[in-house]
Parts: sequence; structure tokens; C-alpha cells
Amino acid sequence: MRSIPLVDLKAQYAAIRPEMRAAIDAVLEHAQFINGPEVSDFEQRFAAFCETEFAVGVGNGTDALALALNALGVGPGDEVITTANTFIATAEVIATAGATPVFVDVDPHHFNMTAEGLSAAITPRTKAAIPVHLYGQPAPMAEIMEVARQRSIKIIEDAAQAHGAEYQGKRVGNWGDLTAFSFYPAKNLGAYGDAGAVVTNDGELAATVRMLRDHGRTDKYLHEYVGVNSRLDTLQAAILRVKLGYLEEWNAARRAVAAKYDAALGEFPWLTLPGRIPGGRHVYHLYVIQTDRREELRQHLSDNGIGVGIHYPVPLHLQPAFRSLGYGLGDFPVAERLGDSILSIPMYPEISDAQVARVVQAIGAFAG
Ligand SMILES: *Cc1c(COP(=O)(O)O)cnc(C)c1O
Repeated sequence: MRSIPLVDLKAQYAAIRPEMRAAIDAVLEHAQFINGPEVSDFEQRFAAFCETEFAVGVGNGTDALALALNALGVGPGDEVITTANTFIATAEVIATAGATPVFVDVDPHHFNMTAEGLSAAITPRTKAAIPVHLYGQPAPMAEIMEVARQRSIKIIEDAAQAHGAEYQGKRVGNWGDLTAFSFYPAKNLGAYGDAGAVVTNDGELAATVRMLRDHGRTDKYLHEYVGVNSRLDTLQAAILRVKLGYLEEWNAARRAVAAKYDAALGEFPWLTLPGRIPGGRHVYHLYVIQTDRREELRQHLSDNGIGVGIHYPVPLHLQPAFRSLGYGLGDFPVAERLGDSILSIPMYPEISDAQVARVVQAIGAFAG
């Protein structure tokens, strides 16, 4: 029996092959590999998709976060609040900016930052916070923005996993001051290599990020800021432009797969299914279940050819890289419990009903 991967990028390519080959060929022929016409065209289309005014393509999602922090002037002496159960990049960029990452625990049901958690962690040194829309589910942004306004801090959304997610009818990317997206290949919108974008409705911030990503340039050899080289490659923009045309359809397919898992796995009382935030539109970058017997289930599914993952096993406050921040075991019980109990199961738009049924059957066989 053929194995079922966690994510199947080959199946996606097979479905769009001729169109993709033509888009790549067009770039090879015109040879404007840096800042070619596909870059600004993709930026406009991605801004339209996000329902934001501006999108600026950058080299990857980590740089999108770093450039957003830089544009807000975050640096040494500042504290930036984020959650303990995210990919390391969210906190890494705070440290590389010279600021101090401050972690908060998450809601046990939807796994994201809460307004109460944010509020309690704010000090006079807090400059900004980075709520993450983890697994494709929006954080409670209306409530978070209310706290941010009252306490005069800036908000950067980490939407690396949440292209097209919405909260209270408003798309992610329209809540915070700036929003970072990743187009890492396995993300809901993925390049064929590294790529990312910053979106915003603030023209000044957009212009600053646009300069920073390209050596702080205002003209070919005139540099307003000390910037970086983190442009979006023309080839990746051409690839992303093709895929963007399918993103709504793919997100709808992910939501349909999630509904099938919900119905079938709901039969197993020993499993906890992913919680949903009221008012949210989840785009299921990942479908994450929980069980006390996670290690055994993981082994059982792997043995049966089913791709699984853990996002993420070690919360950031317990990472060796953040040892110097002085956190310890017990500081963030929800994040710690999630690290021990979560399991990501196959989730991608092209997964067939038969494959979903096989995943469900294998999980059922473990219990039975
Ligand atoms: C993928 C990811 C990033 C980093 O994106 P890259 O493009 O890999 O640099 C940041 N935050 C979260 C939550 C992610 O999932």
C-alpha cells in the first residue's frame, strides 16, 4: 500500500504543470531575475488577496518578520511579546533585532495568544507584540488590537501559516501595523524555494520595508537606511503568481478535508480534535490532534505509512537558544502540555477521500 505524506507537493505540481512551466520559461527568456515585472505584479495580486493596500515581497518569512520589526524601530532595550508555542523564527527575529523576547502562554482551545495574556505581559519596555495565527487559525485580533491601542504598543501579525484566514470577517493582514507571510514550499501558498512578504495598510511603513529589503535604497546608489538584501526573486514571484490563482480553491479544499476529519475522528473519545475560535475562518495549514498517547500513536501511524509531524515538540521558552532569558519548565503549562500531546496528520488540498479514510482507519485501529 502506498504511503500518505503529511504534505504532497508533487501532487500539487502535477495539477498545474503546463501553466507553471510556461511561467518559469517566461522569466528565463526575459532574464530579469531581480526585480522583474512578475515581482510587482505578484505584490499587487497578493495585496488584493489579503484585502490590504500594500504587499512587499521579501526573501523569506523570517526576513518578513525581521523587516517589520526594523520598520517599527524595534531594537536594544525593547521587549517584544510573543507566544511560547510557535516556530522559532517568530522569537529569533526579536533577539536578532537586539530586543528581548517575552513569552506568553496560549489559549488551551485555539492555541493562540489571548488579549488577557498579552495585557498581563506588557511592561513599560514593551514596544510590540507578535501574535501568531498558528496552524492557519486566526488569533483573537479584535481583542488583541484593543489592548494594543490602550497600551500603545505595535502589533505585527505572524501569518506565515494563515494566508486567507479571517477573524470577524476581516482577513489576517488587516489587524496589526504590519503582517509577515512566509511562502516556504509547504505553506498554504508556497514557492519553489524561500520567499515571503510583508503586508500593511500603512503607506509609510510599506515604503520603509521596500527600502530596507533592498539595501535601504532610494535610488541605485543612494541609500537612506542601512538595509539588507532580502528581495523576492522574480522566478519565485512568477511561481507564486500562478499558485495564487488557486489559493482560494486550495484553502476551501483544506477546510473540506478538515470537516471530513472532524466528522470521522469525532467518533474517538480518546482524541482531542482541533478547537476553533468563534468568529474565525481557519485555513488549516495543519490539522493537529491531541492525545496522551502521542508517541505511541505517532509510531503506529509511521509504521502504517502515514506521514505525521509535531508542530512543535519543544516550546520556545525551553529551547537552548533562549536559555539566557531565564525561563524554566512549568512557566507556560498549556504550551508545555501541547508539546507533549499534539500530532499533525496529513493535510493538503489534493488528499483524496480514500486517503482520508485510510488515515482515519489507521487511527481507529490504534485505539481498537
Ligand atoms: C514558516 C514560519 C515562519 C518562517 O518562515 P520562513 O519563510 O521559513 O522563513 C515564521 N513563523 C511561522 C509561524 C512559520 O510557520
